[in-house]
Amino acid sequence: MPQLQRLVISPTQLHDRQILLTDSQRHYLSRVLRLTAGDHFIALDGQGQSWLAALVQESGLQAEILQAVTAENELPSSVTLVAALPKGSGFDDVVRQCTELGVACIAPVISDRTLLQPSSQKFDRWRRIAQEAAEQSERQFVPTILDPVPFVEHLRELDATALKYFCAERRDAPHLLDRLQMPSAPAYSIAVGPEGGWTQVEVDRAIAAGYEAVSLGPRILRSVTAPLVALSLIAASLERSP
Ligand code: SAH
Repeated sequence: MPQLQRLVISPTQLHDRQILLTDSQRHYLSRVLRLTAGDHFIALDGQGQSWLAALVQESGLQAEILQAVTAENELPSSVTLVAALPKGSGFDDVVRQCTELGVACIAPVISDRTLLQPSSQKFDRWRRIAQEAAEQSERQFVPTILDPVPFVEHLRELDATALKYFCAERRDAPHLLDRLQMPSAPAYSIAVGPEGGWTQVEVDRAIAAGYEAVSLGPRILRSVTAPLVALSLIAASLERSP
């Protein structure tokens, strides 16, 4: 089962077997996902088609398609969970359960109220948990778990193709479910804060960077519960019959 990074492309970027990458995709692949020429990744068109692709160095970074892949149990859109790390071992369950729910990528962020900087052993452990959970739930792809970055750095490197929702408790924000209208977007990013919540500065910066604040209901959820609620709503909305 491939543990490959994913990139949403528009069908107009495909020419023969070449993918014409945009500047921001090149930046995303090389700077955020840290891929270089020769590395493989999965290209998705957001309409259910996926390909195994390779990066090539040809007057700048380009990509070529190697083969189509069938991804029958994968969500039709690529969903990234941006999560401020909770304390203790709570994140093990978040990784396992979000993988079962179909997450494509987990991007841990260090927020102002994040208590710990995780060790590299923790990352190996989370990648192993994601691998096992993907196999157990019969997925075709294992979610990518990115290295942690400070939240402000994450905001500088946002995926331009994704609809970005920021889970904000105690705010007068629309319910996530009401924002998940059809037609669906090719990619979603959903950000969940730490135990202590986001700071007001983080909320303001996220909104300025292109996130929309959303509510998951009037009750305050733990930071290990909120990702499951958000992922369940997105998955159900993407997979319900039209
Ligand atoms: N300690 C904070 C709560 C933090 S909850 C307080 O007392 O206000 C942890 C994270 O889960 C939040 O940052 C938010 O991203 C998410 N969350 C929890 N409940 C939520 C809700 N009802 N709506 C939207 N997001 C929620």
